[in-house]
Amino acid sequence: MNFHIMTLFPEMIEQILSTSILGRAIDKGHISFEAVNIRDYSNDNKHHKVDDYTYGGGAGMLMQAQPIYDCYKAIEAGIKEKTDTTPRVIYVTPQGKVFDQKIAQELSKEEDLVFLCGHYEGVDERVLEEIVTDYISIGDYVLTGGELPATVMIDAIARLVPGVLNNDESAMTESFSNNLLEYPQYSRPEEWMGKKVPPILLSGDHKKVDEWRLEQAIIRTKERRPDLYEKYIEENPPKPPKKPRRKKKNPEPEQNI
Ligand code: SAM
Repeated sequence: MNFHIMTLFPEMIEQILSTSILGRAIDKGHISFEAVNIRDYSNDNKHHKVDDYTYGGGAGMLMQAQPIYDCYKAIEAGIKEKTDTTPRVIYVTPQGKVFDQKIAQELSKEEDLVFLCGHYEGVDERVLEEIVTDYISIGDYVLTGGELPATVMIDAIARLVPGVLNNDESAMTESFSNNLLEYPQYSRPEEWMGKKVPPILLSGDHKKVDEWRLEQAIIRTKERRPDLYEKYIEENPPKPPKKPRRKKKNPEPEQNI
């Protein structure tokens, strides 16, 4: 999967995405990314200006349409040449729908994804109308730029791409899959500060360990995220208790015909 990020600060993206698990996934060829500097597409050859005042007044500068559009067209041309498809273009913005694991799963199926990182007061609406397919936020607060939100989303999406995590199963049991938070986990030593690892985890009985983990995940979700617990219960309604069989008191006498 290939990530293409339009930004005024490519070094921010490069630093975050080229370390740790994602860095290794890039080395192995499971994912790739290019951070494209929007400034390189400015028509202002002298100062490479990309922002200007907002019509109608108001505080701050706005990113202009032209450099972003030309930057996108160059990225799109590269993708079309390779795959003959038009990519989804995500504008990271506090005005979008809030990013979650479900959106990450959906986006992880794409071959190419383009991100637009805003800055200053944001971006001229006309270029957004022209190129953006998805408006996505990372939460109800305002940051200074789109680089952190874009890398947050890319991290969550990339780790769902097959091969990126050493153990693909871990993405399946993690928080939010199946509307549950993950169960508590423990590593060595068996006892730390007088606290012991729950004995069931040392039993070697995998079926019982799974049952315990599911039970703990349900308890934790109910306590910490009642909203998520509601969804889990909706999709997994508790089974009604089995009715005990009643013995017939006076069985019908057998009839001799
Ligand atoms: N004036 C804009 C508004 O009120 O919606 C906010 C602009 S913000 C200072 C600059 C840029 O940071 C945005 O264009 C966007 O790309 C990014 N940004 C800020 N907060 C964000 C959030 N919660 N989620 C995603 N992107 C965000």
